Amino acid sequence: MQLVLVSACLVGEPVRYDGSDRRCSHEIMRRWFSEGRVVSACPELAGGLPVPRPAAEITGGAGGTSVLKGEAKVIGSNGEEFSAPFVAGARRVLELVRTNDIRVAVLKEASPSCGSGVTYDGTFSSRKVAKPGVTGAILQQAGVQVFNENQLAEADALIARLEAGK
Ligand code: SF4
Repeated sequence: MQLVLVSACLVGEPVRYDGSDRRCSHEIMRRWFSEGRVVSACPELAGGLPVPRPAAEITGGAGGTSVLKGEAKVIGSNGEEFSAPFVAGARRVLELVRTNDIRVAVLKEASPSCGSGVTYDGTFSSRKVAKPGVTGAILQQAGVQVFNENQLAEADALIARLEAGK
């Protein structure tokens, strides 16, 4: 069975920076749970950060790929740098994915970790750029198909194709 990695906050765990969650109750998510195919993780907690923690963004609107290369930083709203725990968490999630042979992920969009298509631009002014977060980037580089919470049907269709061997 194809497992799917899902952001912990999307499965209802209160792990966001402010202690909230972003539970997704979509029927596809509920079915994935009943099928036992959901593996959840929060990369920021995996990297050792606590709840609550400062909101964070990637400097220069550079995206997670630049953070992984050491060319951009993850900075908290308090000015503290969080690049190291973000990269460590991304690597731990990548290990989890490899251990479980996971090829599909559904991650919370726009997070500096979990974003896959967009992230905030580093100015803490609600402006977004079309770049992934740190974990989104490391998984995409590893060949994982990363979807967001509004792309469950697409993720489900890919899982069906993979299980059919197509
Ligand atoms: Fe959710 Fe990902 Fe942020 Fe953790 S790092 S709270 S899983 S969006």
